[in-house]
Amino acid sequence: MARSIARCPVCKKPAKQTATPTGDHNQIDCPDCGRFLASESFSQAASAHSISAKRLALEHARFRARYGALPVITTYDLP
Ligand SMILES: [Zn+2]
Repeated sequence: MARSIARCPVCKKPAKQTATPTGDHNQIDCPDCGRFLASESFSQAASAHSISAKRLALEHARFRARYGALPVITTYDLP
């Protein structure tokens, strides 16, 4: 699996990113936002949204995630 340092799609800080085997999500390991999965479309749409909107989107994803599962953040979480 490709592991690289990239910008967190939520807060723009440097974060570890790992592409999932299917390639349509990235696992983000951010010192600020924690660990979550971001869909490819979210990562692309993210730059058009404010950080507060994206943090809220991450909260939605966390709320939805089953206990112990990684939150999956998608464009549906954006306003
Ligand atoms: Zn972050």
